[in-house]
Amino acid sequence: MVQVNGVNGHTNGNGKPAPSQAQQRNPYAPRYADFLSNISNFSIIESTLREGEQFANAFFDTKTKIAIAKALDAFGVEYIELTSPAASEQSRADCEAICKLGLRAKILTHIRCHMDDARIAVETGVDGVDVVIGTSSFLREFSHGKDMAYITKTAIEVINFVKSKGIEVRFSSEDSFRSDLVDLLSIYQTVDKIGVNRVGVADTVGCANPRQVYDLVRTLRGVVSCDIEIHLHNDTGMAIANAYTALEAGATHIDTCECCLTHSRSAVLGIGERVGITPLGGLVACLYAANPEYVKSKYNLAALREIENLVAEAVEVTVPFCNPITGYCAFTHKAGIHAKAILNNPSTYEILKPEDFGLTRYVSIGHRLTGWNAVKSRVEQLQLELTDDQIKDATAKIKELADVRTQTMEDVDTVLRVYHSAVKSGQLTVGAREVLDQLLAEHHAANANGKPQQAPTPTPVMA
Ligand SMILES: [Zn+2]
Repeated sequence: MVQVNGVNGHTNGNGKPAPSQAQQRNPYAPRYADFLSNISNFSIIESTLREGEQFANAFFDTKTKIAIAKALDAFGVEYIELTSPAASEQSRADCEAICKLGLRAKILTHIRCHMDDARIAVETGVDGVDVVIGTSSFLREFSHGKDMAYITKTAIEVINFVKSKGIEVRFSSEDSFRSDLVDLLSIYQTVDKIGVNRVGVADTVGCANPRQVYDLVRTLRGVVSCDIEIHLHNDTGMAIANAYTALEAGATHIDTCECCLTHSRSAVLGIGERVGITPLGGLVACLYAANPEYVKSKYNLAALREIENLVAEAVEVTVPFCNPITGYCAFTHKAGIHAKAILNNPSTYEILKPEDFGLTRYVSIGHRLTGWNAVKSRVEQLQLELTDDQIKDATAKIKELADVRTQTMEDVDTVLRVYHSAVKSGQLTVGAREVLDQLLAEHHAANANGKPQQAPTPTPVMA
């Protein structure tokens, strides 16, 4: 399918006229993509309840699993993948319980390519079964010890069995990027011919780069007609970029995991061993930037924060400050020139609109990098009447104080309120710095003596 963003003023695929000048300048317009690309036509397979269970800190009891499944469903992921019911008795019971919730998302379970596992899986009530087997020489030699002929024979048997139960089936190789390309394409072609719903490519060790991902998925797209799923580990921090490029090359389904935000943090703290797969939040940020309207139409973006809080709490870590979208710095602006531009037009420094995620931006003003435009915005919020020259004068005082220590919003408000009341009473004129210092000192002394403080307004500058 062809997506046209109008940047070059073309007609779109339906022969509609070129977009207007205003649309051409819209920074949130979809990006150009070629005919193979599925950037605006994909599904998410959310694997926090499978891959995430493999995180060192994770122990999800039934109640937690159900809460996470419901939160993911409220967000709108197309699929939720669960740990194999063959793993333990409780895993099987939990899988059955989640299938009975009647969620909108399809429920999948992830099993080894083995008839014993398949027989258990199809009895749980799942909508589909994800089958996996190692195909790299490393795994064939050191893990299961089977050759490609055995793998192919077993895959056919398992796929036919799952299909006979009328549910979806995916066949994935493991460690695909270190597998022989001819072996891979040949088994994918075989399973495609017998009607598998999806084939899966897995960067199990996180070794792939975007170009390798593009090449493999694009080659595979020319060989099979079924859907293509991709599972990308984040060992080198490449998982989101690799997911994006996989969609560009024709992949249709992306595996994600909210454990990744916790994995990432664990790595930062040095307590994690491996660093997870493509994070749901980061991928959503990336795909929203590519086509905001499409992503907004598919997902309840405001529900993302709750999922991340829920998972972070379940594995006893906090959401990293720099996490895309939900990190506390994600929509914070500080430098004076940024703040001025953001207050005029947020798209100057934001590719994601916080309001689309149920969040608000924060313009930090109590620091030495602040500017009078940001302070003016606060003056207006406080409904103080000051001229631009007076605001610039007050800003100079805030910067002077912030050179000593960062000023809280309450500190900033105090300067502005004292300045305002002194100007109104005729005690202060622009540039009378000593008078202002004196008034501020009197104000602080009065407060220290227990006089009632002027009620601070805790609201930060929201633009
Ligand atoms: Zn994995």
